[in-house]
Amino acid sequence: MINSNFMEVNFKALSINEGFARICVAGFCVQLNPSIDEINDIKTAVSEAVTNCVVHAYPAQKGVISLRCEIEGDCIKIIVSDYGVGINDIARAREPFFTTKPSEERSGMGFAVMESFMDNVEVEKNDKGGTTVTMYKQVGSVLQVGNA
Ligand code: ATP
Ligand code: MG
Repeated sequence: MINSNFMEVNFKALSINEGFARICVAGFCVQLNPSIDEINDIKTAVSEAVTNCVVHAYPAQKGVISLRCEIEGDCIKIIVSDYGVGINDIARAREPFFTTKPSEERSGMGFAVMESFMDNVEVEKNDKGGTTVTMYKQVGSVLQVGNA
């Protein structure tokens, strides 16, 4: 039978919750028996996605961030959604070094980091006008040899 599971959590878009989100995802991923490198990659990508919601999505009143993780076989799918201002030009936003907040010492590398640490990253406007980032990673893909 194929391994299948999910979890979902909602929290306020505050920077203090970035660490909470990382730990949530890392704890959920443990069942896939990830390597330290894989878990660090996933935590880094989750940090970037959640930080974007905190920094960019809600310029006025802080809203909600939704985090959902799905396991299907040896793959983890991580969905981070906000219901804030949305991104007008998603292709441009995904370009390395593009940022709308240079004055706050943002480097515009968040999406590039997510792409480099995960197998696939999708960014779209959701039905509430906010942003949904969906990231995929196969975990435990490194062949174990010599374990006789
Ligand atoms: P860095 O991540 O390096 O600190 P950054 O956040 O500006 O800088 P990216 O994460 O690559 O860089 O995001 C690029 C741009 O996309 C942001 O400057 C912002 O304009 C827009 N953006 C990203 N995520 C969101 C979001 N959840 N809501 C609204 N705009 C967003
Ligand atoms: Mg960012």
